[in-house]
Amino acid sequence: MEKRMRELTDLLNQYRQEYYTNDAPSVSDSEYDRLYRELVELEEKYPELIADNSPTQQVGDKVLDGFEKYQHQYQLYSLQDAFSKEELLNFDRRVKNEFPNANYIAELKIDGLSISLHYEKGKLVAGATRGDGQIGENITENLKKIKDIPSTLSQPIDITIRGEAYLPRASFQKINQERQESGQVEFANPRNAAAGTLRQLDTGIVAKRNLATFLYQVASPVTWGSQSQVLEKASDLGFSVNPVRIEADSIETIWEFIETMQEKRDSLAYDIDGIVIKVNDLAMQDELGFTIKAPRWAIAYKFPAEEKEAEILSVDWTVGRTGVVTPTANLTPVQLAGTKVSRATLHNVDYINEKDIRLHDVVIVYKAGDIIPAVLRVVDSKRTHQKPMEIPRLCPSCQSELIHFEDEVALRCINPLCPNLRQRSLEHFASRNAMNIAGMGPSIVEKLFKAKLITDVSDIYRLTLEDLLTLEGIKEKSAQKLINAINNSKANTAEKLLFGLGIRHVGAKVSKQLLEVFGNLHQLIEADEESIAQIDGIGLVVAKSLHSYFERQGAKILLEELTEVGLNLNYLGKIAAKDAALFGTTVVLTGKLEKMTRNEAKEKLEALGAKVTGSVSKKTDLVVAGSDAGSKLTKAESLGIRVEDEDWLLNQ
Ligand code: NAD
Repeated sequence: MEKRMRELTDLLNQYRQEYYTNDAPSVSDSEYDRLYRELVELEEKYPELIADNSPTQQVGDKVLDGFEKYQHQYQLYSLQDAFSKEELLNFDRRVKNEFPNANYIAELKIDGLSISLHYEKGKLVAGATRGDGQIGENITENLKKIKDIPSTLSQPIDITIRGEAYLPRASFQKINQERQESGQVEFANPRNAAAGTLRQLDTGIVAKRNLATFLYQVASPVTWGSQSQVLEKASDLGFSVNPVRIEADSIETIWEFIETMQEKRDSLAYDIDGIVIKVNDLAMQDELGFTIKAPRWAIAYKFPAEEKEAEILSVDWTVGRTGVVTPTANLTPVQLAGTKVSRATLHNVDYINEKDIRLHDVVIVYKAGDIIPAVLRVVDSKRTHQKPMEIPRLCPSCQSELIHFEDEVALRCINPLCPNLRQRSLEHFASRNAMNIAGMGPSIVEKLFKAKLITDVSDIYRLTLEDLLTLEGIKEKSAQKLINAINNSKANTAEKLLFGLGIRHVGAKVSKQLLEVFGNLHQLIEADEESIAQIDGIGLVVAKSLHSYFERQGAKILLEELTEVGLNLNYLGKIAAKDAALFGTTVVLTGKLEKMTRNEAKEKLEALGAKVTGSVSKKTDLVVAGSDAGSKLTKAESLGIRVEDEDWLLNQ
């Protein structure tokens, strides 16, 4: 039992990290909720085995590096959840036991991310994410870019108000379409897109993304008597408040509202994942209080995950840029979470074998934490075919033999000349985090590749305007734009090129780390495995992968060609690596800066080679303190950490 509890704790913590910190979940919410429930049940039976790091003992997750931490004056909580009417009736019994006359308010549970706004004398002074409930990320500047958040209230009061920031579905679709066209990875769902947008450092992007909010809770003390008055008052003050809600004494009426909203859910302009039921009277709320992570006066009914049955009509096997061959099922079309679905991923060969999925099986399809829906399992009772699925032995693109490495779940094509693999590699090369060639998304790459105008990446730099004009549907203006973008990319800093080459285990971050140390691609190619593996955070796997890549004759020729067509192979990043004044140090910024913005200060510190973090600890080497610096400065002094001021930083 203990083992299972530990397993669940670790797994759920991994999912939480992906969901809250990386904004990129790998499993559906319902899968997460199912495992969470299993853990709760075990913990109820064996309370002495509850681990300190159990997800049931904490709200949200740690804050991201790069943002200043924000200490909430009033803690933010999660919500108890319910998945059945039965559980709502239990909640009702618990409440009515103490307050037989309790009245409820039911609101939509907006699927975005929690934010907290703080106003003084009616002016917005700070805004933050929930974080772990006590410490969030200070995202004030980003929140100021959301149009429906008032900078000044209709009354000059002090107030801390909570709500949800979300991305309307239409904006989500638009953003993803743009991302797809420019070769960027699409966001999994509006919630992740909203969280990813608010937790990034460029306020300009936030302004473009059309985020919106619904505010629903005042955290600072108020004189209003009920939640419904809070919502009315919040709306009068100028906040956006969701108009869809009901008040009722009986849980039966609330249940009817739940059923109605579940049906109407798809027609809303934004995602909701359930209904929140709250005791309306604020004095009763006070009496009922909180558990370690949630109020006792509220419960969130979560809508069941949308799952549908569909038949697998056929399976497509496609080769990705790393050679991994992925199976996708073509299905009889079904309506799922607001969209028509006719394709679903089968993940990999091991998944197919493990779940024994066969052609023409009726399967359960669901929306995972990804755009493309997934096949969950087979409906055994509807099986008519007895033959296991045929797993290809040969690459669907180049017909060379596929390899199933022992330590991998996937099949792989290892032929470097495989056309599909090449096309995907070209897409990757042009994509945003790699060479960032605007206008060279997957559809243009496909056309160029099919027309044999490009077969490997150096061909991109030999393309002419005339070549592009031979393609169907491309006009002179956009062709010229693309040529310019291609030419501009030649001057990119070399880590973009290194990442663009698509070497196994060499992602964007690793590429940057490598070039910070080696300065240019030639030096890196000459370096032996050991000196690469010694770099902090790199290791032998990357070193070996790089070595075997650069040993290949083809890779050498490619680099020569790229040099010939004029690509920059030098690292142009700001950090002058080892020679920089603050190389390898950890620095904390605190207090008010007069002559530079916090972002400028951070960039300057990074350019000097420092890692900028949010809180002072024994690991901190230096604190740069502006005026009115508070507890961080005191702590630095007590730990004997070096402290410098803004002028010092300016003079560096
Ligand atoms: P929650 O999302 O279930 O509920 C609490 C939150 O609801 C509040 O913090 C608030 O932000 C929000 N909310 C929306 N509308 C509201 C309203 N009208 N009134 C009050 N609150 C409202 O709880 P959580 O702790 O934020 O997250 C846990 C959930 O997140 C899980 O149940 C799961 O669905 C999801 N999750 C998924 C993964 C994954 O890997 N897929 C990982 C972690 C968490």
